[in-house]
Amino acid sequence: MTVQFDRIALIGIGLIGSSLAHDIKRLGLAKDVVITTRSAETLKRAEELQLGDRYTSSAAEAARDADLIIVSVPVGASESVAREIAGSLKPGAIVTDVGSTKASVIAQMQPHMPALAHFIPGHPLAGTEKSGPDAGFPGLFEGRWCIFTPLAGTDETALRRLRSFWETLGSKVDEMDPEHHDKVLAIVSHLPHIIAYNIVGTADDLETVTESEVIKYSASGFRDFTRLAASDPTMWRDVCLHNKDAILEMLARFSEDLAYLQRAIRWGEGDKIFELFNRTRTIRRSIVQAGQDVDAPDFGRPHALDKKP
Ligand code: NAP
Repeated sequence: MTVQFDRIALIGIGLIGSSLAHDIKRLGLAKDVVITTRSAETLKRAEELQLGDRYTSSAAEAARDADLIIVSVPVGASESVAREIAGSLKPGAIVTDVGSTKASVIAQMQPHMPALAHFIPGHPLAGTEKSGPDAGFPGLFEGRWCIFTPLAGTDETALRRLRSFWETLGSKVDEMDPEHHDKVLAIVSHLPHIIAYNIVGTADDLETVTESEVIKYSASGFRDFTRLAASDPTMWRDVCLHNKDAILEMLARFSEDLAYLQRAIRWGEGDKIFELFNRTRTIRRSIVQAGQDVDAPDFGRPHALDKKP
């Protein structure tokens, strides 16, 4: 594989940052990888795992002379990172992020970005419920979508370089406007996580079912919700706070549809219930056909798409 960037700075080295580090090293995409993170403990762990070539506690220092800067921190921390790195960006540097919400990240970062740099917001649709530098693994982004939400007038060469970077990691790249991204993600990712957090919380609050029964019988549907509900609380708190409008809109629609289902159950309207359950099955089939999951009966358990050893 050919070197694509002389120096890459990874700001934030949790699940996403460390997965990027593994791939950059594995594929030889940079001559020099500089890593920075908020805490001394995480930085030390990144060094123990040999995720980069150099390590610093200063984001400004990491960004200095880097050709590509990838910000992988909870979305609520985007502005402070942008403010910190703004003064040390070199002419032509590409700054991107991986945040799960886009309009808010742009609002936080863009005002700090100097005209000499190219800011291209991005979001890889890949992840697990794990967090921290030990959670990353090579190949996380393979076969997954990475969505760019470029600002008007973005430099075409910079865009092409970043696209090529993600494609080398095995991702498929799409572009859309940030508001549309936030709406789509609200339904395909944010709402499912919120529902999972809520259902697991409800089970936890139930007084008539003991905690041991919840765990003992969890194979019957609950188990798959617990995986989502084990996701990083900081990351998901920030997603809720920074995609508020789209999430509230989707939650309102969800509540309406749930009320419809509730009524159908109350009135014994089997046809309505069957029609809905049958319709939703085809969505699952389409996801498998699109290569975004495999048709294994043990949904949620390790299978061909889970590349982590
Ligand atoms: P993570 O594993 O929890 O790692 C978070 C990283 O950000 C750590 O290096 C952490 O530093 C740093 N950090 C945390 N709070 C910070 C703050 N207030 N200021 C500066 N740095 C801070 O998170 P992740 O899963 O990699 O997620 C990173 C980003 O990727 C998020 O924006 C998330 O929305 C997005 N994303 C996540 C997934 C997923 O499935 N997890 C998928 C796609 C996109 P310390 O450990 O040193 O404190």
